[in-house]
Amino acid sequence: NYFTKEIMEIPQDNSSSKVIVLRNITSFKELDVAKTNFIATISHELKTPLASSDFSLKLLDDERIGKLSADQRELVQHLKDDNQRMLRILSELLNMSQVESGKIQLDITEVRPEMIADNAIAAASTTAREKNIIIQKRYAENAGLIRADAEKTGWVLNNFLINAIKHSYADSTIIVSIQKNGSEIEVSVTDQGVGIPSEYSEKIFERFFKVPGSKTAGTGLGLSISKEFIEAEGGRIWMKSEIGLGSTFGFSLPVSR
Ligand code: ADP
Repeated sequence: NYFTKEIMEIPQDNSSSKVIVLRNITSFKELDVAKTNFIATISHELKTPLASSDFSLKLLDDERIGKLSADQRELVQHLKDDNQRMLRILSELLNMSQVESGKIQLDITEVRPEMIADNAIAAASTTAREKNIIIQKRYAENAGLIRADAEKTGWVLNNFLINAIKHSYADSTIIVSIQKNGSEIEVSVTDQGVGIPSEYSEKIFERFFKVPGSKTAGTGLGLSISKEFIEAEGGRIWMKSEIGLGSTFGFSLPVSR
């Protein structure tokens, strides 16, 4: 059973007495677990048809099937973008339910951070191109290896990149850097975007948090999941930002060799 404990003060004539209130919240906890499982199930169910329509759209765009007019190609591209956005939201929901249920499953191997970064950059390149944003690599030579879950770490980095693109101006540059700092390897994404007020530097990693006034679409889940993933791997997540100049989001993981 789960309980919450609360101390209540009851005022009396000239003094007061204290009462400890224990509330049995087991049924709420069960409901919460049921909700988390439900989100995971629905996300799984939606992922299959979406992935399959994504595949069909790719085929439609294949010249071997038939040539599309410029207008048709543009429409197909819109559909592909929408699909990608939906798949991204679903992966956030699936990851969130993993985090919520306390069951982050890590598949740890020794990996080169450059490999993770290259894959994340490749996955974000189409989105970057739409705003004519250049992604520049600044990798230190032989930074070393990290022990990490390549998929989850890649997801975090891709999330940084998509955020950076979302909050950047067109024709700007984003830098992905890999550095060795003592016994840690730092991987970070720096943009020349709108920046984030320093008062939000911790809050930004909370669930559902979005910078007030920010008009971009999104669930506010990405960074909170990223923090959970990186901390589960034994690392730290951080950010630095200056209003009007841009932001850097990064993580540091212990170097393994
Ligand atoms: P989402 O992007 O889905 O809203 P995130 O957790 O990834 O959720 O980000 C939370 C919020 O942090 C965003 O809504 C945005 O306000 C802010 N943010 C994240 N990355 C950046 C960035 N590179 N530049 C400016 N603001 C950012």
